[in-house]
Amino acid sequence: MIRLTTVGTGTVSPHAERTSAAYLVETGWPMVDGRWHFGEPRQNPDASDAPSTIGHRPSVCLLMDVGAGTCHRLAQFGLPWTTITHLAITHFHADHFGELPALLFAMKYGASETRTAPLTLLGPIGFGALLDKLAAAFGDWVTAPGWPLTITELHPGTPVALAPGVTLDCTRVPHTDESLAFSITTGRTRLVYTGDTGPSEALGDWAKGCDLLLAECSLPDNLAMDIHLTPTSVAALAARAQAKRLVLSHLYPPVEQVDIRAGVAASYGGPMDVARDGDVFEVGGDREVGGGGRERVRGDR
Ligand SMILES: [Zn+2]
Ligand SMILES: [Zn+2]
Repeated sequence: MIRLTTVGTGTVSPHAERTSAAYLVETGWPMVDGRWHFGEPRQNPDASDAPSTIGHRPSVCLLMDVGAGTCHRLAQFGLPWTTITHLAITHFHADHFGELPALLFAMKYGASETRTAPLTLLGPIGFGALLDKLAAAFGDWVTAPGWPLTITELHPGTPVALAPGVTLDCTRVPHTDESLAFSITTGRTRLVYTGDTGPSEALGDWAKGCDLLLAECSLPDNLAMDIHLTPTSVAALAARAQAKRLVLSHLYPPVEQVDIRAGVAASYGGPMDVARDGDVFEVGGDREVGGGGRERVRGDR
């Protein structure tokens, strides 16, 4: 199963309730008491032949984007920031990766236990060069933090295995030259995150049949532009993708002034949520939260 926490649902615009882009994805198979199995989902997690690899952490703890406010939001929502296994960046706008040095610095000096676990950083082509520039500005610890660090540049159409049975794939989207959308797959469950994007039929086709489409919905329709989505264009995307569930995020203040739900419902009939910071969505398990429901298990709002 996949658990998604919308850590930051805002944009580059400072906002009292929405910090910049950050989304935590945890995969695995939780026991009834909240512990996780490593590896592939199991049809019956309570079976007596439960594997010996039962652990207290998910198999993958992936942070997608790390914009301003991420570090403190992770702490606020009680999220396992010290045990993040992968950190993936969709594109190089500051509201999506600007807090990367601060998070690495926190992992190195702000945790109660010294980190030894490996960490993988993933991003578009050019990510390695960008990290070298950050290291030049902040210090060598950016790329040599003292624990095993792998830097992987993503190539559309070439999936990356994050862990046994968990893959990350990407595709180009119309926003900046390097911008990518992500797809996380484990077992039969698939989550697609648009990153920042303009309208794209190709993205809808690529996302076809996904269990959860996490989509940007930056602007109201009267401010539509070709590098962001609006209620109307995000609905067209979700309908083309036949997404089983739609979660909207990356909201600039003007789009919060319109009836987003009505705009989307005109052409997408599936369950839809307008995410808030700290919301939790689970798909692909027997505890699946679906059919328009929303389980809020973290956060203080
Ligand atoms: Zn953005
Ligand atoms: Zn952007």
